[in-house]
Amino acid sequence: MITDRQLFLSYLAQTSESPIGIEVERAEGIYVFSPDGKKYMDLISGISVSNTGHRHPKVIEAIRQQLDRYLHLMVYGEYIQSPQVKLAAKLAEVLPPELQSTYFVNSGSEAVEGALKLSKRFTGRHKIVSYRNAYHGGTHGSLSIMGDETLKKPFYPLLPDIIQIELNDSEGLEKITNECACVIIEPIQGEAGIFASTPEYLKALRERCTETGALLIFDEIQSGFGRTGQLFAFQGYDVIPDILVLAKGMGGGLPIGAFISSREIMSSLSHDPILGHITTFGGNPVCCAASLANLNVILEEKLAEQVKGKSGLFRELLSGLPGVLDYRSSGLLIAVELKDFNSVKKVIDLNLEKGVITDWFLFNSSSIRIAPPLTITNQEITSACSIIAESIKQAV
Ligand code: PMP
Repeated sequence: MITDRQLFLSYLAQTSESPIGIEVERAEGIYVFSPDGKKYMDLISGISVSNTGHRHPKVIEAIRQQLDRYLHLMVYGEYIQSPQVKLAAKLAEVLPPELQSTYFVNSGSEAVEGALKLSKRFTGRHKIVSYRNAYHGGTHGSLSIMGDETLKKPFYPLLPDIIQIELNDSEGLEKITNECACVIIEPIQGEAGIFASTPEYLKALRERCTETGALLIFDEIQSGFGRTGQLFAFQGYDVIPDILVLAKGMGGGLPIGAFISSREIMSSLSHDPILGHITTFGGNPVCCAASLANLNVILEEKLAEQVKGKSGLFRELLSGLPGVLDYRSSGLLIAVELKDFNSVKKVIDLNLEKGVITDWFLFNSSSIRIAPPLTITNQEITSACSIIAESIKQAV
């Protein structure tokens, strides 16, 4: 009999020579189960997706109810679909008055594309400012603004006139001029290995954007939906973007993204030309129903409010260990820096053997990534950290 592993290797397009390769039978809460009976504690959440855990019962129930009503009906923006409009209204309720109009898409990359197009259309400009070591997705536009050459170079030519600046370097702000359509920033850089903007920097950036008329875009695809201890990371700063970009933790495990702006800015997508952004599946009713339930769970279970304490416990248990050279966290986005990639790889492999899923970062080869479901308990953190500590001791 051909195994799923053989089918995976034969027929699934591979993007690496060493995929993690866990075979999954079922996932529940913070646990992933393989067919051989092994149970893994998932400290990655499908890369910051399963913030409410795998298969949260309320998310599953919302999906079930929507399955009995309708699936896809029409391309985005034409029919009135209850899950879509209720989700947009809920997002408006938890966001400030500047961010009341939501465009639903399918993924983080598409949300970034939408935000870039919106800012070009609204300002009539085309220069874009982004950051070194930033990650914004895998499509041509989002690749163009990526802050790392290795993943970009083979795909040139990309978008012209991209200006890259350095996080928290206020001198770089001079490069934002009245020729720029937008500045796109991850308030907490994820793939760079968890580097947070300083409050002073974000404030100065906001001022510079307002001064020059460049729209300020926050990519909160990784930092959103409670992960940093606020519902959205920008709420921990006294700064509001012109466009907020979301995905990952938005869908409770189903694919959905969004770019959100003011009614005024967003209205530029409806004329000259009409249909300024088109998507067939964006705002899929099942995904929206799941997303609304997921957001309600985050709010009702006060998951964001618990992040600070849980993050502190991780720090207490891991940051001082021998071999740990640096420890950075923004809520439950955590980077544990070791000597080099060899040590990182060893620790990740040892963790996996012992049933704990951790991962690496795209642009930081010497750090281990930890981003568990926000539902993880203190007891689970304690037992996960004792395994990680043992792996670090063995590897370093
Ligand atoms: N922006 C950020 C900050 C991300 O972390 C990611 C995904 N890692 C993306 C954009 C792209 O999202 P997607 O993979 O859903 O296209």
